[in-house]
Amino acid sequence: MHIVLAASEAVPFAKTGGLADVCGALPKHLAARGHRCSLFLPGYRRAIHSGQPMEDTHVSFVVDMAGKQVAARILKTTMHEGAADVYFVDQPHYFDREHLYGDEHGDYRDNAERFAFFCRTVVEAIERLQMHVDVLHAHDWQAGLLPAYVRTGFGGKRWYQHAASVMTIHNLAYQGRFWSHDMNLTGMDWQFFNWQQMEFYGDLNFLKTGISFADFVTTVSPSYAQEIQTPEHGCGLDGVLRAKQSRLLGIVNGVDYNVWDPRHDSHIAQNFGVENWRDGKTVCKSDLQHMMGLPADPTKPVIGLIGRLAEQKGWDLVKPLMEGSVEQMPAQWIILGNGEHRFATALSQLAARYPDKVAVRLEFSEPLAHKIEAGADMFLMPSRYEPCGLNQLYSLRYGTVPIVHATGGLNDTVADLAGDAESADRATGFAFRDYSLHGITECVWRALNIYSQDCNQWGRLVTRGMQQDWSWSTSASFYESVYSRAREQAAIEGRL
Ligand code: ADP
Repeated sequence: MHIVLAASEAVPFAKTGGLADVCGALPKHLAARGHRCSLFLPGYRRAIHSGQPMEDTHVSFVVDMAGKQVAARILKTTMHEGAADVYFVDQPHYFDREHLYGDEHGDYRDNAERFAFFCRTVVEAIERLQMHVDVLHAHDWQAGLLPAYVRTGFGGKRWYQHAASVMTIHNLAYQGRFWSHDMNLTGMDWQFFNWQQMEFYGDLNFLKTGISFADFVTTVSPSYAQEIQTPEHGCGLDGVLRAKQSRLLGIVNGVDYNVWDPRHDSHIAQNFGVENWRDGKTVCKSDLQHMMGLPADPTKPVIGLIGRLAEQKGWDLVKPLMEGSVEQMPAQWIILGNGEHRFATALSQLAARYPDKVAVRLEFSEPLAHKIEAGADMFLMPSRYEPCGLNQLYSLRYGTVPIVHATGGLNDTVADLAGDAESADRATGFAFRDYSLHGITECVWRALNIYSQDCNQWGRLVTRGMQQDWSWSTSASFYESVYSRAREQAAIEGRL
């Protein structure tokens, strides 16, 4: 099959979160399974100047954006040693900016226009490049108009005759919701501005559009696929998702073990595998403690945390947990994160109050993230909700026992050591269901007690986690079957 992916970020061109990891890795693994892959991205400043050689396709045209004529030019490069083609929508007015979606003043005010333009350019570019598309795979709201264009035959493109569409939701909380009159920028007929298709409480909603029109919808873990069909986690779209439930599947993101594996990680003090993890971790832990200015005590468990300082990631629980328990808990805390000021301030205060127990770095640092994964004994990830989550998967491979809130992807990837014999045979970490200060406190104490009192049990948790395989090959095979099901659906509806 020829799979065409459209997304607003992909490693190594532009990244703000897990979406970029998925869109960077998936083409490689689909190509390895014999498919042809092309990826469309906005031509951001950092993407076009990423140092990759750019080829001009000589495809350029003008898009009518609500009466304004805007020029588009298509640039091309390849990724994964030619395994996939990458096309950039070059339009400096929209994309030659420092950031992807906004700056210190908030979201860019023309985001509806920028990403409507992106989607409209993709459908036109595919036609002019004479691509034969089997599946168009749109990611997140920024690409949400594409399934609507394919399904409604927007602009009468020839390539629609062969193409089905798939919409993937990486985080339902971000929907691309705009003023209704931005409908004019989409070029779609106003007949589609209704509550079953593009309209959402009087506004235009790009993600709802993608979900409504796609032949198949996926999200990034089975639990999250269930949760988003409930009013509690559905962000207002639970009804739309329930209506689609026979064509909605959760597929856990894969890990790139070329980058995240302690056996060959170049950022860490000593490489190690499942056979010598105790030795390797001892060296990495001491290196981490030294680097973070904490006493190099091999007996003290280190609890690591890495992530965006946003409410989603559970900092509103971490803060009272630490304020109330750091003193009593026999542990050191090493934290890496950047984001909301209120959490940054609280964490800095804790580090100042407990200099021998808490170390905090308020930055984005890939090397330090690797060192924490390798040197910590436990990894705390108490997200309020978590579509998939990657850090807990890295932790498993690094022998760093995850402590998680049992939600979304965390629920699907970490098995709790609950105390009974059955759970002891399959556990890889600790999980709490009740999102409360009591829930997290009890769970962290459970982990600390096993660490200090049951060395054998701890060893079993570590080795079981390290032996698990969360690589892309499994996820890519699930996507492959989704593509086939999307095509079957399009055929049933007489569109193929
Ligand atoms: P999300 O996409 O919701 O931010 P994920 O866990 O899916 O969360 O992915 C986040 C990615 O970004 C991980 O690779 C994580 O290690 C990385 N990351 C987040 N914050 C930082 C930071 N401050 N420094 C280094 N890496 C970070």
